[in-house]
Amino acid sequence: MDRQQEYVLRAIEERDIRFIRLWFTDVLGVLKSVAIAPAELEGAFAEGIGFDGSSIEGLARVYEADMLAKPDPSTFQVLPWRGDQHGVARMFCDILTPDGEPARSDPRNVLKRSLARAADAGFTFYTHPEIEFYLLEPQLDPLAPLVPVDRAGYFDHVARGTTHDFRRAAIGVLESMGISVEYSHHEAGPGQNEIDLRYADSLSTADNIMTFRTVVKEVALQQGYHATFMPKPSIDWPGSGMHTHLSLFEGDSNAFYDPAGQYQLSSTGRSFIAGLLRHAAEITAVTNQHVNSYKRLWGGGEAPSYVSWGHNNRSALVRVPMHKPDKGQSVRVEYRALDSAANPYLAYAVLLAAGLKGIEEGYELPEEAEDNVWGLSDSERRALGIPALPGSLQHALEIMESSELVAETLGEDVFEFFVRNKHQEWTEYRSQVTPFERARLLPGI
Ligand code: GLU
Ligand code: MG
Ligand code: MG
Repeated sequence: MDRQQEYVLRAIEERDIRFIRLWFTDVLGVLKSVAIAPAELEGAFAEGIGFDGSSIEGLARVYEADMLAKPDPSTFQVLPWRGDQHGVARMFCDILTPDGEPARSDPRNVLKRSLARAADAGFTFYTHPEIEFYLLEPQLDPLAPLVPVDRAGYFDHVARGTTHDFRRAAIGVLESMGISVEYSHHEAGPGQNEIDLRYADSLSTADNIMTFRTVVKEVALQQGYHATFMPKPSIDWPGSGMHTHLSLFEGDSNAFYDPAGQYQLSSTGRSFIAGLLRHAAEITAVTNQHVNSYKRLWGGGEAPSYVSWGHNNRSALVRVPMHKPDKGQSVRVEYRALDSAANPYLAYAVLLAAGLKGIEEGYELPEEAEDNVWGLSDSERRALGIPALPGSLQHALEIMESSELVAETLGEDVFEFFVRNKHQEWTEYRSQVTPFERARLLPGI
């Protein structure tokens, strides 16, 4: 047993922990949990805990159903909402095959493989997500009209506000679990909030996003609300994005920083952005995985629809945010397509792969977009070489299916499962008769 594992066993005794939840994530980004008694933990550290992988979306084929979940002791945290006595703790797990090999279909492993490729090139990958979500009055019927908890807007300070009490409670829980929060505010939609997590290596960030979603849902339930990360709950409101700021470090220094570069961006940073742009359409099915995601991308509300970059240009897909001139180490790029319902492990893996490809191949960065790209006509955008993001899940899948970059990054198993599952979602969706069609056609045709 190593020191971290010993530390966890001691903490469990000292803190009166009765259950340990082993957490992992399926290919669609849904958190899975199995509780074990403290007595089982030594065995779990040594060999993992067996479970039926074929019952978990995308993890195993039926004929190789047995899988093992092996807890990562560095992720040990007590769940504050379960109380102090007879407490409950959790650890994220790596999924192993019965021979003890990392399972290629485990999303955490997909990200680790991408990180290993970055490490071979001398880089570590840092991410900082801005997570948006809605707080609604709870309703059992998902088709009932939505009732947001307030009617406030962007940065509003609401006296006796529901949402800042909510954010304070949620942030308290996150911080007690070792997840630092940088900013939080009311977003533009009624009942819409944003909480931004502090920069961390991207594996920790992806774990933190999974914890964040659980914490936000738990705290909402405690306060009598329903929290949703659905990308576009209503045509009338802005969608919920998960913009993420990305940077690569070489040791202690930011590889995107060059004091002499435009916006202090190094040539490595420029090629990274060029990689994001060139492969944006290919990775969109992963960063925006639901039929509903495309309602956000094409429904206004400041979500990006076109592939361009800019400095402080909110209509651009990739933005190089302003930073203080003396804070060169904080040079970073913001990717704005990602939505709050993405699988963070897979999304960060493909974003990293796209950026690294740009660096390896020395892609040239196209001109930045200085205009509001939504306001340009199609022919103006064509003349400026600004393509569109995919228009629907089907379109995104078609592009992804011929992407070597995505196939290589996700690995064969995840790639195949993902494409199959998402085609199924599209097939079910396209046979629906929607309220839009009825309202448009029934009265007059
Ligand atoms: N809610 C917007 C989106 O869907 C983003 C608003 C912002 O700039 O933070 O991406
Ligand atoms: Mg925002
Ligand atoms: Mg942002």
